[in-house]
Amino acid sequence: MMAERIRDYLLSLEPDSGPLLQEIERKAGERGIPIIKRETGALLRTLVAAKQPGAILEVGTAVGYSAIWMAEAAPDNCTVTTIEKFRPRAEEARENMARAGMSGRIRILEGDAGEILGDLTGLYDFIFMDAAKGQYLNWLPRLMELLPAGGMLVSDNVLQGGTVLESRFAVERRDRTIHARMREYLWTLKHREELETAIVPVGDGVAISVKR
Ligand code: SAH
Ligand code: MG
Repeated sequence: MMAERIRDYLLSLEPDSGPLLQEIERKAGERGIPIIKRETGALLRTLVAAKQPGAILEVGTAVGYSAIWMAEAAPDNCTVTTIEKFRPRAEEARENMARAGMSGRIRILEGDAGEILGDLTGLYDFIFMDAAKGQYLNWLPRLMELLPAGGMLVSDNVLQGGTVLESRFAVERRDRTIHARMREYLWTLKHREELETAIVPVGDGVAISVKR
């Protein structure tokens, strides 16, 4: 989203993520698994470090990259609960957590988030939404129940490579439903009384919301 030269420069400033995260980044890239971008990772870590959450919830584990990234920045006693519906990915994520020495702090729940979210009990003061974009709007009411006052909801991929700004007629027919839903999601985040939201064009677009 940012001008390419600015992005290259900012990436050149990023410290080394270490051998394990680099290997996960490379392997995910080779297989087209959409893990967060480096700059999104830096933003997420900074938000977690500021918030100092007691319990993080992630929707969309993939191979555990962002979960490890958040757990590293969180206080030692913070737990991470992350949901993934695709079994091979959840298994690979479990291996990656073990290799990162994070198995004790990160819990992977395997299954469809629509069902699992309904079964969760307790509150999560930091929620990272990074799964099926067409479902964000449907899941939002449940996430609001799981989020305490002062809690933070971070939503990834909200600008969809820029297509979210196009009119629905400029978008391919097959992408129109998701396009309309994402626009409605962003509108809702900005207009719900109980939320304070900033939408930032970092990575693929990130919405940062705080519950009043
Ligand atoms: N957060 C990860 C990337 C997640 S990619 C990272 O940055 O490292 C999105 C993941 O969400 C995919 O692995 C996909 O299988 C999963 N997903 C999509 N729809 C889902 C659903 N309804 N329930 C649970 N997981 C879902
Ligand atoms: Mg994402």
